[in-house]
Amino acid sequence: MTVSAKTAALQKADSAHYLHPFTDHVDLAKKGARIITRGEGVYVWDSEGNKILDAMSGLWCVSMGYGQKSLIDAATAQMNILPFYNSFFNTSVEPAIELSALLAEITPPQFNHVFYSSSGSESNDTILRMVRRYWDLKGEKQRKTIIGRKNGYHGSTVAGASLGGMTSMHEQGDLPIPGIVHIDQPYYRENGLKLGVSEDEFGLIAAGWLEDKIKEVGADKVAAFIGEPVQGAGGVIIPPKTYWPEIQRICDKYGILLISDEVICGFGRLGTWFGCETMGTRPDFMTFAKGVTSGYLPLGGAMVSDRVVDVLYKDGDFNHGYTYSGHPVACAVAVANIKLMKEQDIVNTVKNDTAPYLKKAWASLNDHPLVTDAQSEGMVAGLIMLKDKTKNEAFDEKDNVGMICRGHCFDNGLVMRAVGDRMIIAPPLVISHAEIDELVGLARKALDATLSDLKEKKII
Ligand code: PMP
Repeated sequence: MTVSAKTAALQKADSAHYLHPFTDHVDLAKKGARIITRGEGVYVWDSEGNKILDAMSGLWCVSMGYGQKSLIDAATAQMNILPFYNSFFNTSVEPAIELSALLAEITPPQFNHVFYSSSGSESNDTILRMVRRYWDLKGEKQRKTIIGRKNGYHGSTVAGASLGGMTSMHEQGDLPIPGIVHIDQPYYRENGLKLGVSEDEFGLIAAGWLEDKIKEVGADKVAAFIGEPVQGAGGVIIPPKTYWPEIQRICDKYGILLISDEVICGFGRLGTWFGCETMGTRPDFMTFAKGVTSGYLPLGGAMVSDRVVDVLYKDGDFNHGYTYSGHPVACAVAVANIKLMKEQDIVNTVKNDTAPYLKKAWASLNDHPLVTDAQSEGMVAGLIMLKDKTKNEAFDEKDNVGMICRGHCFDNGLVMRAVGDRMIIAPPLVISHAEIDELVGLARKALDATLSDLKEKKII
C-alpha cells in the first residue's frame, strides 16, 4: 500500500527507534505501523485520513469515547494546580482522596479502601504481595500458592504474567515464578463440548477443577484464586452462569481469598459497575485500570476488602508502593470520568439498552457461513470462525484466519481484534444503536471478504 510522504517518514522513524509491545518488529518494519492521529466519539483517524470505528475502545479502555471535554479539562486544571506530589511520608493529595471516596461508594459494600498503581499489571503485582503479607500476619505463613487459569491474562510484569496462563508468555523469562499454579479455563467450546454436558453442567465441572487443585496443593497452602469475570485477552471467553457462584462457594469452603481482576470488566463494561456483580461473586480484592480513566491517563489500583484491611493495615508498614501511586492528575481524570459515567447513567444504559441491542445485532452474525458462537456479555463480544461449522471443524492454525479477517476489518474501517480464530470486540460504552448497526455491518463485510479470500486460497 502506498502512503503519503509524511506517513512514510513516521513509519521509518517508528521502525528505527520504537520497540512496541507484543510485536514482531521484522514483520512491522515490512508493513509499516498504522499511525493513529486523532479520535472523536467511537471513531479514530489514521495519518492517511482513514476513519475507523474503534470497536476495541483503544485497548478495552476508552469507555466514554474520545474527546470528552470534562476529562480533558480536569487534567488541564490539575496540571496547573499541582501536576505531581507523592503519597508517601504521611502526605496526600486532594484528587486521590476524592477518588478513593468515590470508589468506596460505587464498589460492592466489602470495599472501602483502595491502593493505587499506574496499570493493571502493577495492580496484580500489588495483590500478590498483599495476599502473602495477609497470610503471614494471620500466622499462616505456609499459605503462599495462588491459583490462576490457563489462558487467563493478568498483565506483563513478572507476577502479572505468572498469574496469567498464557503459554507464549511463560515460555519467555522462566515463568511462572514459584508459588503460582493454573487450572483449565471455563471455555465450553474447548473444554466442554467433548464432555457431552450442557453449558450449566460444564460450569460446575470447570469450577470443580479449582477444588481438585486445592486438594492437590493442600488446602492449608493455598492463599488465593484469581480470575477475570469474563476472560478478555484470552478471546472473550464468557463462562457459563453456574461457574462463578460455584467458585465463590469453593473459596468460602477453604477460606481462600478471591481476587476479581476487573481491569477489563470493571467500570460498567458488563452492565454493572463491576464484573463480579454480574457474575455473583463477593471478592476480597478487585484489581482495576483502563476504564477508571477511560484510558485518558494511566491509572490502576486494587480495591481491598475490609476483611483484609483489618489485618494488613492494623499496625506497621506494608512495604510497597509506587512513585505514581495516587498520581494527582490521573486521579483527577478518574474523578471526572466516574462523574461523567454517573451523569450519563451509562451503566444502566449499557445494561438495559445498548448491551441487549448489541447482543441481538452481534448474534445475527451467526448466520454467516464462517461464524459460530457470536455471543456477548455487556459490551464485550466474541465469535469464532470455523472451517465447517456443521462439523465443528476448526481451521489449521497456520492459515492465520483471524489475522486475515483482522486485516479486512482495518481495510473496511473497523478495529476488531483477533485471538486465534476468535474475533473480539469491546466497543466504547457510549456507542449508539446506529453505531452498533454500522459496527456489525462492517464486521459482516470483513467476514465476507475473509470468506472470499479463503476460497481463493483454497483453504475452504
Ligand atoms: N488484567 C487484565 C484482565 C487485562 O486485560 C490487562 C490488560 N489487557 C491487564 C491485567 C494488564 O493491564 P496493563 O496492560 O495496564 O498492565
